[in-house]
Amino acid sequence: MATSTKKKVRKARKPAPVKTAPDPHLPNPYYEVRDSAVHGRGCFARQFIPKGTRIAEYIGDRITWAEADKRYEGYDVNDNHTFLFIVDKKTVVDGGVNGNDARFINHSCDENVQSTVEKGRVYLDAIKDIQQNEELGFDYQIGRDKNDPPNVDEIFACRCGSPKCRGTMLWPAKRPKPRKKKRSSVKTAAKKVASKSAKKAAKKATKKVAKKATKKVAKKKVAKKVAKKVAKKAAKKKAAKKK
Ligand SMILES: [Zn+2]
Repeated sequence: MATSTKKKVRKARKPAPVKTAPDPHLPNPYYEVRDSAVHGRGCFARQFIPKGTRIAEYIGDRITWAEADKRYEGYDVNDNHTFLFIVDKKTVVDGGVNGNDARFINHSCDENVQSTVEKGRVYLDAIKDIQQNEELGFDYQIGRDKNDPPNVDEIFACRCGSPKCRGTMLWPAKRPKPRKKKRSSVKTAAKKVASKSAKKAAKKATKKVAKKATKKVAKKKVAKKVAKKVAKKAAKKKAAKKK
């Protein structure tokens, strides 16, 4: 019989991460809303929150993108408040209407909370151990748009104060350079034109060569005919001489 040389050990069971969100219509048990040094009001941990805890559900009016556009038509472009949260291609949750305190969780480039969408609902989970009185923050990753005003980076500037701060709530962090894009598109257009004209030229050239070749063949044929005629004439002459 084989015997184990290792002594059996005891093992602590890790607390299972809490994945049921607290009732979104009641005051949140994990955080309270206070004035924030980062931005307006923020959410601060009432107590130590272990990593993996489902802190809150982000609720509000569930509307279509078209409805959201209508609702905020003519809003001040210099206002960086947005409580709209993307669920999917069709739906947006508007935390500004019938929302809960979760809408006050500020943006942070070094998030301790992460947003996840599960079965069409938005949840906020602790991705780090969060100490009491620590402010909660998650990365808003606000998308860029073609119609953004030129000062969009100023409007959505980030002041989260983290060493990892990328300076903006927008994503991607840097505005794509339209000039370069234009240039490259002009280049590709030029390339296309060039390749087209090259193709045309090539076609012309092959046509010319083909014409020349047919001409040559025709000339040869004529020459052969002429030669035959000459030969016939010569034969006739010879026959006449013999007579
Ligand atoms: Zn930041």
